[in-house]
Amino acid sequence: MTAQPVIRTEGLRKRFGDLVVLDGIDLTVAPGERIAILGSSGSGKSTLLRCLNFMELPSEGRVHFRGEPVGTATGAGVRYRERELAALRRRVGMVFQQFNLFPHMTALENVMEGPLTVLGQNRREAEAAGRAQLAKVGLADKAGEYPARLSGGQQQRVAIARALAMEPEVLLFDEPTSSLDPELVGEVLRVIKGLAEEGRTMLLVTHELGFAYHFATRVLFLHDGRILEEGPPAEILKAPRQERLRTFLSRFT
Ligand code: ADP
Ligand code: MG
Repeated sequence: MTAQPVIRTEGLRKRFGDLVVLDGIDLTVAPGERIAILGSSGSGKSTLLRCLNFMELPSEGRVHFRGEPVGTATGAGVRYRERELAALRRRVGMVFQQFNLFPHMTALENVMEGPLTVLGQNRREAEAAGRAQLAKVGLADKAGEYPARLSGGQQQRVAIARALAMEPEVLLFDEPTSSLDPELVGEVLRVIKGLAEEGRTMLLVTHELGFAYHFATRVLFLHDGRILEEGPPAEILKAPRQERLRTFLSRFT
């Protein structure tokens, strides 16, 4: 018996005006899967992640979360079921390239904010959980620091702790190391590797192919808003079938 997928999309399309950015994405994410998403700039990677947690509203198609339809989009618009939509937004955590921490809040306050305002935890619960999450990403001693006083790698680890504090079922990472100095990439990838070892369900947009090879249970190659090729990392990265994927990969060697 296969477990209920965490997320399933059918025919997901996203347009901005006349520009078709996602052109029919059928994606099923099983519990514990780690999916690395590759693709050139502009291929739709960020838009796909943003549609999966409904930061962007799909133009067409269906998204299911734990088997429940969240929204059915048609050419005429999208109809949402508010309860499922709220649940999905809460249970799908996202980590961005640009950290997006609140600059006027300390590391700990950043991590506590969602649990206080969205999960309805009291301050004592939120602080205890927040400190535990900061410890988990190796920043127990930085709880009282403001983001401006942290390195990029530390800020990104705070952002990961903040996402974890919401107790997400799925974590989405959008190029989490792309804006870091090279010497800071490793500390963030180590945290992500630790989450993988816990068996968390994750989708990761990355250009770190070496990391993707060891991290991912499945790799997707996105091109012009479609999944052009997908499979186990050894196939996709070492034996790509599509010419476009071979060309894409050749730029990294
Ligand atoms: P990637 O993350 O793969 O680089 P994106 O998903 O960010 O690609 O963008 C895919 C395409 O959608 C690009 O052509 C981009 O300019 C366009 N796009 C993304 N967001 C918007 C938006 N809010 N309005 C208009 N066009 C957008
Ligand atoms: Mg992007």
